[in-house]
Formats: sequence, structure tokens, C-alpha cells
Amino acid sequence: MGPFGRRSPAAAQGAPRRRGGFRWWVLLLFALYAGYYWISNQQDAAFTGRSQLIDSSVEQEAALGLQAYEEVLAQSNVVTTGALPGQVREIMTRLVNVAPRVENDLAAARGAQPSTQWDAFDWDVSVIESEQANAFCLPGGKMAVYTGIVPIAQNGDALAAIMGHEIAHALLRHGGERMAQQKLAQIGSIAAGVAVGDMPPEQQRMVMAALGAGAQYGLLLPFSRDHESEADEVGLMLAAAACFDPREAVGLWERMGQASGGQAPPEFMSSHPSGATRIERLQQLMPAALELRHTYCGGAPAPTGPEA
Ligand SMILES: [Zn+2]
Repeated sequence: MGPFGRRSPAAAQGAPRRRGGFRWWVLLLFALYAGYYWISNQQDAAFTGRSQLIDSSVEQEAALGLQAYEEVLAQSNVVTTGALPGQVREIMTRLVNVAPRVENDLAAARGAQPSTQWDAFDWDVSVIESEQANAFCLPGGKMAVYTGIVPIAQNGDALAAIMGHEIAHALLRHGGERMAQQKLAQIGSIAAGVAVGDMPPEQQRMVMAALGAGAQYGLLLPFSRDHESEADEVGLMLAAAACFDPREAVGLWERMGQASGGQAPPEFMSSHPSGATRIERLQQLMPAALELRHTYCGGAPAPTGPEA
């Protein structure tokens, strides 16, 4: 006899069967499971020390990243001629080379140990011919810069801000964190489906919609905002430490905001809203970024970087 929905012998004999109830115990079980899952899969994010939920290994994430990278490249027009691919590769190399030292310094500043498994990262970058203003760095370090984002970047320092931001997403293992959140969300939606299983259909829809909206706005959206501000901060520090001008990040996000003002926002801008809050936060971080740049690169505060 199945645990759900089967009539007990008493019900079959005509005993009144309760209808319309919400099975709270199912959600309670899910909450207990989620709590256990949460506690047993916590670890400290590299660079920031924020505690994060991850249940995949960095190698598993890198394997998925490589697979996605090969799929994208197979479907894209990869640019191999002209100056741009070499410039983009040089920016990536500078950012990646300085990353272990930046992590050491940030960890030392909060009395922690650096935690990045550098062996799992095998960095590569491709330039993709496309009108899309997009850029990404997958788990494991495979990156792409779309030619459509170059006119918005305008210079190498701003391009370094974009690439630093994307590299930070990978180093902070935001992809692995999102997979764990999605797994919990899936199990949660199954639990919610069971919990409302006895209610009238109309009520079922209402409760499911409310639970879905609660999960979206209470859990998933704040997570993605955390990821964005974390990648902004770490990316800015990487760019500064690699001797790019971190102040270019501000102008970049202003241009992003203008570029997405018109019709439908291009891909990167739709997942990276350029609000006043984002720019304000970058400005707050700027003194620390300029100080870091001075420590790593010496000399006067950031001169203008190479043109892209
Ligand atoms: Zn981002």
C-alpha cells in the first residue's frame, strides 16, 4: 500500500475521509530535510569567507563547465584573427595570475585560510562574434567574451572589470551554489505538491503560487543579488591588483545602464541590472581598490590602462 492517497480499509468501508486539508507534516518533513541538507553541506566561500551551500565537488562543477563551454563554442563563430583575441587573453592572464595572492591577502585580513582549489581551474578564453553584449566564466575557468560587449566596455580597464566580475563568479563557485539551491527548490516543490494534494484544485493553485513566489522572492532572488555584489567586489579587487584602473568599473556600469535603456536588454544586462545601488557600492569600494592597486602596482593611483 502506497503511503499517499491510497484509501485505508476503514475509508473503503465508508468512514468519512477528511478532504480539503493542507498536509503541514509534509512541509515539516521537508523543512527538517532542508535544514539537515543545509547544515551538512556548508562551506566557506573562498575570498569572502561567506558560508555557502554546495554539495558538488569543484571537479564535478568544472566538468559541467567544460561541457557547456564546448557546446557554446560548437554553435558560435569564434574570432581568431585581429588584435582582440590576444588582448582579451592578456587581460584574463593578468587577472588570473594575481588571483591567488589577492585571495591570500583577503583571507589574511579576516584571519582565515585561503580555500580555492586552484588545480580544478584550467583557464581559457574565447572571443565570440555576436551582437549580444555578453560575457561569461564557467565553473572551472572557461570564459567567453562576445564582441557585442566591446563597444560598451570601450577600453581594456572596463573589459577587465567585466572579466574580473565573471572570474569572481567562478572562483566563488556560484554555479555550484546555484545547483544546490535548485536541487532544494525541486524537492521543495515536490513536497509542496504532496502537501496540497487533498485540497480542491483552485486552492491548490493558489497555495502553490504563494509558495512559489515566497521561494522566489524570499530565497532565490536574494541569493542571486548576493552573488552579484560578491562578484562585483572580488572582481573589482582582482582588476585593481592586476594594475587595471578600477575606476573604469563605474563608467562601465553607467554605460551598461544606458545601453539597456532602449529595447529589450541584451543578455548580460538582463542578468546584471545596472542600478544606482550597484554603482554606489562600487564607489564605496573604490578607496580600498585603489589602495590595493597601489600595494600591488606601486606608483601614483591608476593611470589609464591599455585600449582594448
Ligand atoms: Zn554577475
